[in-house]
Amino acid sequence: MTIKIAIAGARGRMGTAAVQAINEASDMELVAILDYKYEGMYLHGSDVTDTPGGVPIYETLESLTADTLPDVLLELTNPDAVYKNMHDALTYGIRPVVGTSGLSLKSISQLAELADEKRIGGIIAPNFSIGAVLMMKFSAMAARYLNDVEIIEMHHDQKIDAPSGTAMKTAEMIMDVREPHCQGHPGEKETEEGARGADIDGMKIHSVRLPGFLAHQQVLLGAPGEMLTIRHDSFDRKCFMPGVLLAIREVMKKESLIYGLENIIE
Ligand code: NAP
Repeated sequence: MTIKIAIAGARGRMGTAAVQAINEASDMELVAILDYKYEGMYLHGSDVTDTPGGVPIYETLESLTADTLPDVLLELTNPDAVYKNMHDALTYGIRPVVGTSGLSLKSISQLAELADEKRIGGIIAPNFSIGAVLMMKFSAMAARYLNDVEIIEMHHDQKIDAPSGTAMKTAEMIMDVREPHCQGHPGEKETEEGARGADIDGMKIHSVRLPGFLAHQQVLLGAPGEMLTIRHDSFDRKCFMPGVLLAIREVMKKESLIYGLENIIE
């Protein structure tokens, strides 16, 4: 069976890599683009033109579904657009596979309820890289024993949201296995606001944004007399594509919303 896919965010950096990966997958077909502009035009590679023959572009799922009904919407846009696109996809019976960061836990739980109601699968993957998912799993495993944790995530300077979805997901996976507690000196004071980073359940998350980085994360687990550092580096967006294709194939078998690729990788 060929899986029919629409992409939101196809002109972006992740979207461009995903278009190429899907075009190279023999069991998938890119049938439509969801955008907020260029209705009626066509995507040819990474160029938008009015020449027919490329992938048609639509500004709403209403106009898109009037022409074609994809099985999956791959969502790679930005934190402002992702909730609506995902909500609309579930409403139209299209399985969302979402890489965009910035969805709150409350939004995820509302979307999970909608997926249950519609009995339709969806996958939210804060990180599509298999190596990064293993980094998160290893961190949660280690935090059962070394449970003072700080996370340093480093991304390119065009990333809008902070902390990254991967850092938040790592913290949530650690929260599942350790008791919440205050870390550092109980009386510590910041002489410059933000110096200690964001506080998630006692864990600190520090976000670095610099040109030159793509996506990197270190999880530091400290205990008296020792420290374990677990680090993952993404050097090229190609590292996300095996996870994108895996999520698209797996979502076809699901009837609820899965949050995190670690739930489909044994
Ligand atoms: P990007 O290069 O900025 O691409 C985003 C694209 O989405 C842009 O072309 C943008 O158009 C378009 N867009 C904005 N609003 C839209 C809407 N309402 N409908 C359709 N398209 C819309 O960003 P990126 O680096 O590709 O990253 C995209 C998202 O994926 C980010 O949230 C990023 O954090 C996340 N990400 C996830 C992973 C993962 O493994 N899960 C990995 C890397 C990145 P304009 O340029 O016209 O604004």
